Amino acid sequence: MLSSELMLDIEDLEVRYGNIVALNGISLNVKKGELVSLIGSNGAGKTTLLRTISSQLKPTRGNISFEGQSLPRLAAHKVTALGIAHSPEGRRVFATQSVRDNLLLGAYPRFKKEGRKAIEKEMGHIYDIFPKLRERQLQQAGTLSGGEQQMLAIGRAMMLKPRLLLLDEPSMGLAPVIIDEVFEVIKRLRDSGETTILLVEQLAYRALKVADRAYVLEQGKIRLEGRGPDLLTNPEVQSAYLGAKKGH
Ligand code: ATP
Repeated sequence: MLSSELMLDIEDLEVRYGNIVALNGISLNVKKGELVSLIGSNGAGKTTLLRTISSQLKPTRGNISFEGQSLPRLAAHKVTALGIAHSPEGRRVFATQSVRDNLLLGAYPRFKKEGRKAIEKEMGHIYDIFPKLRERQLQQAGTLSGGEQQMLAIGRAMMLKPRLLLLDEPSMGLAPVIIDEVFEVIKRLRDSGETTILLVEQLAYRALKVADRAYVLEQGKIRLEGRGPDLLTNPEVQSAYLGAKKGH
């Protein structure tokens, strides 16, 4: 459900790789229940932002606050424990493990507190969202198709029952018809109101279409922000990101 409650609040964030400034003083926020997309070309800094939110990278300036708690000083596993799940670029699944075991591993931080029964129940819920994963639950993850692996990567992140889900380029390397399926699932997650989503994506049209709000990132800086539908009709966005060759 949409509310005006701030969940993620990023202020004046700078992240460097040595001398390279990958994020140059960006500010953005995500409210509870929103799907916010971040679009931008190759190298704009999208992956860097998600990796900094999940505390795999540390900023050189600025702050990231999640429900009032400052994230950069926490270790990555502490950020996960707060309920932030990250589905990384390149749909990394555990190739030699079964689909089922991949999902169970996603829920690992919840086992001790909630027990196996709660986790099994969650798995049933994930299988309802991704019926293909149910059919293939005993199959080795490495033998799934690209689209199925992407579904598994998202499903595994959802096993954490995250309050905030970070999705990095879910379209990467997939055929257009499969990308449609993946975005259909993202839309379903959004509509279910179960989780707040920050989606990073190069395919601007799809990312804006599914978003409540969006930001345009260019060379480490926020260039534009607005409601998804408004940005879709913004002339600047149209000429830079929605041209015929941009693969939307
Ligand atoms: P893509 O869509 O191609 O993944 P992106 O928007 O996610 O791009 P980032 O991967 O965040 O962009 O990269 C932002 C900038 O930081 C780029 O200029 C990139 O070359 C640089 N960069 C990323 N990772 C490193 C690294 N480990 N060491 C040095 N520079 C890096």
